Amino acid sequence: MTATTDLVSYEEALATYDPVMGLEVHVELGTRTKMFCGCSTELKQDANSQTCPTCLGLPGALPVVNEIGVESAIKIGLALHCEIAEWCRFARKNYFYPDMPKNFQTSQYDEPIAFDGYLDVQLEDGEVFRVEIERAHMEEDTGKSTHVGGATGRIHGASHSLLDYNRAGIPLIEIVTKPIEGAGERAPEVAKAYVAELREVIKSLGVSEARMDKGQMRCDVNLSLRPNGTEKFGTRSETKNVNSLRSVERAARFEIQRHAAVLNSGGTIVQETRHFHEEDGSTTSGRIKDNAEDYRYFPEPDLVPVAPAREWVEALRAELPELPLAQRNRLIEEWDISAHDMQSIRNAGAIGPIVATINAGADSTSARKWWMGELARSANEQQVELGALPITPEQVARVSELVAKGDLNDKLARQVIDGVLKGEGTPDEVVDKRGLKVVSDEGALNTAVDEAIAGNAGIVAKIQSGKVAAAGALVGAVMKATRGQADAARVKELILEKLGVSEG
Ligand SMILES: [Zn+2]
Repeated sequence: MTATTDLVSYEEALATYDPVMGLEVHVELGTRTKMFCGCSTELKQDANSQTCPTCLGLPGALPVVNEIGVESAIKIGLALHCEIAEWCRFARKNYFYPDMPKNFQTSQYDEPIAFDGYLDVQLEDGEVFRVEIERAHMEEDTGKSTHVGGATGRIHGASHSLLDYNRAGIPLIEIVTKPIEGAGERAPEVAKAYVAELREVIKSLGVSEARMDKGQMRCDVNLSLRPNGTEKFGTRSETKNVNSLRSVERAARFEIQRHAAVLNSGGTIVQETRHFHEEDGSTTSGRIKDNAEDYRYFPEPDLVPVAPAREWVEALRAELPELPLAQRNRLIEEWDISAHDMQSIRNAGAIGPIVATINAGADSTSARKWWMGELARSANEQQVELGALPITPEQVARVSELVAKGDLNDKLARQVIDGVLKGEGTPDEVVDKRGLKVVSDEGALNTAVDEAIAGNAGIVAKIQSGKVAAAGALVGAVMKATRGQADAARVKELILEKLGVSEG
């Protein structure tokens, strides 16, 4: 669909132009009720079942601010090192959209609850880049339109559209950066790293699950180019609602290449919104961007101003959790691993599960081993996040404990994990049901070893002639005889002992 978009190569674009970005991230808060009414935010219900006169915009309905919504906004502002307004108001942003029945969105305009902060974000190679935050403000989500009858699910070609207002009024926090300059060729990577870091901050605060795949967090990527060495910003485009980390990076990259092609050919960039296409990483034109004055913002007359008490703000500040970047740096020390290893663990989404497993009693090495090995593979196969696997950190800690006690070897432990993942019960139940226990009974082991020695004269001769590596075949025979339930290291020890051969 975008075969006609001219692009120049990324390297060529960067040789001439300097990208400037602005990132706007919307986060859906995990509050129980909506921002301005008591309707539930649970989305699994029938269409339009979770609505009331307020979120349907019926005449005479009056909104009331959700206190947890305000508290969450303050927490986010504090975590982003922002100032918290002593007094601020909501504003009406006026525009017509079928899934917004009031014909205005209740938002904040020139009086955001949080402003002037920063977030340090870590790039793949460990370098830290500071992104300045312009503001974080409170607003509400719109309803949801479903276009029926067309091939693409878009409005073009549809026979009719369905409207569901269950989402209308769900609290959103919009976080806007200041212009991000100086990232150069790493601009797309900075954009991705920023959204990743912000997502971790939001999750650590417990104010939202920030699942991008569920639309709980989405990013608008503003991008402009200016000739290298100049100060004045170029005209920007705004790619809307990009909903994965990888897509944020791709959208920025594509726009750099597209802008450069337009500018190189003597054209001008149109200030517009654009749609991102997952299939090929391209963007296409949306609508010509409205200026703020077109929205006719004015203070919301139905809501009282928000004036958070300083004691409240300070109490929230004191309760802030350790921020993700600081936590990662601390864990690198505590676990004695490299920054690169930490980056792999982070990319796998394994920090939380590993920490929880350690808190449940496992040592850090085995907690890391299971989450980054067996469980990461399983999550990858099923295309789910580690946290979505049907096994708890406590259960992983129990498996480590069974291994540490010698009740399981690694091979059996993998079978136990497999059983837990398949819903066969807790680790102990799987051990019982599948009969998985290391044969630690020396008598039974001795018998199995003796039988293996007696039945493999050729191999025994090799071992006794100095080829100790050949013992592997005997270990294999014993493991087979014990259905994998022997401790392989102990078996090898016994074999060598009985044959009077030493390891070296
Ligand atoms: Zn409502």
